[in-house]
Amino acid sequence: MEIIIMPDAQAVAEHSAQWVCELMQKKPNAVLGLATGSTPIALYQRLIALHKAGQLSFKRSVTFNLDEYLGISEHSKQSYRYFMNTQLFEHIDVDIANTHLPACAENENPRLVSSAYEEKICRAGGIDLQILGIGANGHIGFNEPTSSLSSRTRVKTLTERTVVDNSRLFSTDEVQPRLALTMGIATIMEARHIVLLATGEHKAKAVRQTVEGPISAMCPASVLQLHKKAVIILDEAAASELEALDYYRWANSQNAVVVKHYGHFDDIELGSTS
Ligand code: PGA
Repeated sequence: MEIIIMPDAQAVAEHSAQWVCELMQKKPNAVLGLATGSTPIALYQRLIALHKAGQLSFKRSVTFNLDEYLGISEHSKQSYRYFMNTQLFEHIDVDIANTHLPACAENENPRLVSSAYEEKICRAGGIDLQILGIGANGHIGFNEPTSSLSSRTRVKTLTERTVVDNSRLFSTDEVQPRLALTMGIATIMEARHIVLLATGEHKAKAVRQTVEGPISAMCPASVLQLHKKAVIILDEAAASELEALDYYRWANSQNAVVVKHYGHFDDIELGSTS
């Protein structure tokens, strides 16, 4: 695990955008795993700015989002499809037909939609870079605490904590779903590279459990300790409870020399770039 500590949330967005840029330069047909939530918004704004400045194109990329609510229409303003369209897709040159979310229409069987989503990811060649946020309870996607660490895309029931955390996004007359379709933890772990973003003090405890705690289904993000290429990009507040803070800063400054020469990605690991 690589732990990168940036001064503030804006710097987290800028740094994570560099990862996406480098990937898109090395592999213009890259498969991106994307996340919703407040944290990645600043990253998406940065990607939009780079695109508008002519420095970044998503013309050949394919995207897969982590999750989508079950029981609300894709056209609803509360859907994650709506979020992705308005926060990112409408402002870049991605082909909307190449953007995927695990959305399940009213007349569809969520289990079949889940397995079809897994197949689609496979057919696209797997995810090159998965962007993750983290819940205050350690969830990734909607894999809530106690989720199987070998889970695949499926229906999950949200915890009360997540429902409360996300209630700010729903007005009182809107029905807030309690169920969602989410990529599983094993699905996420198959991504070639993972970049998890966390900002704010309210994430500090989950970040500590993720990085320094035991690997446990009680903190699903802790499974990232087993991933070969997981990077955790934090602001000072989210990093504030880490015990080995000084070591991460030191390791990062030493590693900067290697990154400067060779970049973040190993070309061989990215597979076909044609
Ligand atoms: P947030 O959500 O970015 O809105 O804090 C992150 C998550 O729940 O994964």
